[in-house]
Amino acid sequence: MTRASPKILLRIGRIRKRLATPSVPWFVWLGATVISLALHGVLIYSLAPWWQGWAWNRNSTPVGEMETTHEPRVVAFQVSTPPLEPAELLELLNVPQIQAPEGRSPEPAAIEATATIPSAPQIAAPWAGRRDALPPIPSSDKREADTVWAPSPAPIGGGLEGRTADARGKLASLRGGSPRSEAAVHAGLAWIVAHQHSDGGWRFTHRGGPCDGRCRNSGSENSTTAATALALLPLLGAGHTPVDGEHASAVAHGLAYLRGRMVVSSRGGDLQEGTMYGQGLSAIALCEAYALTKDDELKQPAQKALDFIVSAQHFRGGWRYFPGQPGDTTVVGWQWMALKSGQMAGLAVPKQALDRASAFLDSVESDGGAAYGYEGRQAQRSPTAIGLLCRMYSGWRRNDPRLVRGVAQLAAWGPSYEDMYFNYYATQVLHHQEGPHWPTWNEQMREHLIAAQATTGHEAGSWHFADPHTGPGGRLCDTALALMILEVYYRHMPLYGMKSVDF
Ligand SMILES: [Zn+2]
Repeated sequence: MTRASPKILLRIGRIRKRLATPSVPWFVWLGATVISLALHGVLIYSLAPWWQGWAWNRNSTPVGEMETTHEPRVVAFQVSTPPLEPAELLELLNVPQIQAPEGRSPEPAAIEATATIPSAPQIAAPWAGRRDALPPIPSSDKREADTVWAPSPAPIGGGLEGRTADARGKLASLRGGSPRSEAAVHAGLAWIVAHQHSDGGWRFTHRGGPCDGRCRNSGSENSTTAATALALLPLLGAGHTPVDGEHASAVAHGLAYLRGRMVVSSRGGDLQEGTMYGQGLSAIALCEAYALTKDDELKQPAQKALDFIVSAQHFRGGWRYFPGQPGDTTVVGWQWMALKSGQMAGLAVPKQALDRASAFLDSVESDGGAAYGYEGRQAQRSPTAIGLLCRMYSGWRRNDPRLVRGVAQLAAWGPSYEDMYFNYYATQVLHHQEGPHWPTWNEQMREHLIAAQATTGHEAGSWHFADPHTGPGGRLCDTALALMILEVYYRHMPLYGMKSVDF
């Protein structure tokens, strides 16, 4: 054992002596204490995300019922448009990577909010040779700079009153729908109902069940709650409730299936089946069904589904595939809409949860709030549409300069041939804002969907697009999104109110 050199011992001895002496001023001790506390605080804060994720997983797994009643936890329901993840993270989370068709990146190149319209990406068959975006808006329609905005109220609408048979027809004709778009909705809902399984639920895969492989483009995602909720949302969107409409029986059985899949714990009602996408979608379906019927039997499941969302929120305001993970904008969008649906239905939603979610949006915004990124501030198409819709529901006025700039960017990107996730959110933003870009956007979007609907065989009434992001959800996912886009005229009442409609 080597001994420390005498010089070092001497030096240490001097330092100890100096520190021990009472002549050291008190503020030196105070300063040292403050610095020490600050350093430890930074250390604890930096470990917090890891700790929270670990704590969630640790507390989740021992709950026997959660593991026994759920499908294996496979996280793959990427109806979103996430950018490529670091390979290690995907491997860690068991998230299969979606391979983009050759020559096309899975997410259009990130675009600066102030940039000009991006060049169209190369698209694989069957869209080879076509632009991703529908034909560009004629320059004469680019008139947002000249628009004189009327005095703009804060958002007061967004309710479900437009879903009655009478209101639906009036709103569709007043706000941009057409007899052909309504016929497409009718045929699409019939396809969805024809694919309901005997247990009341839906599946993304076409194996077995009433389809038994007769339709192409089967999905691969395992979450039956996500599939069932996605099937129910367009049915509820057109006013089919457990007690109303020609599909009342299908809706009642679907809702019963969802309730049966709920795993209740102290954290609320877990409907994930592998992903928080399933939780958000299921919560929206239950909240809407309760709002439309005020049925007490739906109230408690809807509330518990919301409670789980609140308990799964990351401390910085976001949600991701698993509870407690730091957020991404696409998962946040579904949870946000679930909380707002619950709030509008009169259910308990803590203000703090929405405030935190707003803080998450702050962390991914750019151009002063006109554009949004997926996990960071790099502006992207779908996150921008999601961020703007959430902002509208949070109280932004329709002539807010940030919203006007953001909508102009969405319009410049234009409706997409295949990116249904972007189309779904952007259509809602443009519809509710009622600005100068809406008529052109609506006509392009509506006519594209009418033309793209399958008309023959078992697929008649459904949609499928060559979109790698909705691939795991297959034909059911594309059909649900297309239907909700065509229901935009009445699915939610105009967010900023209407001048006069009698129904
Ligand atoms: Zn089929």
